[in-house]
Amino acid sequence: SSLVPENHPRRESLLLRERLTESMREGSVVPQGLIAHGRGECFDYLLGERTNDFAMKSINASAALLLISSHPVISVNGNMAALTARELVKLSKEIKAPLEVNLFYRNHEREVKIERTLKEAGAEEVLGVGNDASATIPELFSERRRVSPRGILVADTVFLAMEDGDRTEALTRIGKKVIAVDLNPLSRTSLKASITIVDNVIRVVPLLIKRIEELKGKGKDELVQIVNSFDNRKNLREALQFMSERLNQLALSL
Ligand code: ATP
Ligand code: MG
Repeated sequence: SSLVPENHPRRESLLLRERLTESMREGSVVPQGLIAHGRGECFDYLLGERTNDFAMKSINASAALLLISSHPVISVNGNMAALTARELVKLSKEIKAPLEVNLFYRNHEREVKIERTLKEAGAEEVLGVGNDASATIPELFSERRRVSPRGILVADTVFLAMEDGDRTEALTRIGKKVIAVDLNPLSRTSLKASITIVDNVIRVVPLLIKRIEELKGKGKDELVQIVNSFDNRKNLREALQFMSERLNQLALSL
């Protein structure tokens, strides 16, 4: 029932837009989520819409960190649920990390819709819905600071995507390790996270699951070593340099 022509050169991208606008009509994605997606699309264009070396390095470090974390939690917002619910559920089962609905624009109706999307995708339990989001993160205001006392509050590592910079910073300030998927290497989230994966969340989650499966048999020392040898600043620098060199080459090829 899609209106996107089969042979359209940007079909994939248009299909994602349809999925998000449909989720907005249904109420799980907010209009601001569409703007955030558009900003992401622009950076994805600059990256060549593929997973580059620096992103693979971040995915490798993230897989190791998730495997050595004692309480990893997957934070889910409206865009994530609309784009990659099934894979997030798979990731959650793979590392035994709960899924927690965590919304910048929180309201009960949206929470329930996102919970339903995750359950339809196979999730058994979803944290952070209604009264479960009864704990608060210091230094954040109003509804933005509510989290589950069984989830993000007690997590040592939080996996998130398309997150706001203030909240990422608040999480790191209270001692959480944050793995952030963000197409913009210059966002505050990218700069504040412990590990930033500069890539599209839709490509990242399946690759992360695959890498976790590969690293699962490794000893703890080796995993710790992978995490410790990762340098997020250096990785962000590589992402920016990649974009800059790519733009330069494109300019020369015109
Ligand atoms: P910050 O608050 O961290 O400074 P921002 O205000 O520029 O960032 P937000 O709207 O708060 O942006 O966060 C959304 C982020 O998610 C943007 O950086 C955007 O590039 C990124 N993004 C959008 N869609 C995707 C996607 N599909 N995969 C990964 N990242 C995405
Ligand atoms: Mg922001």
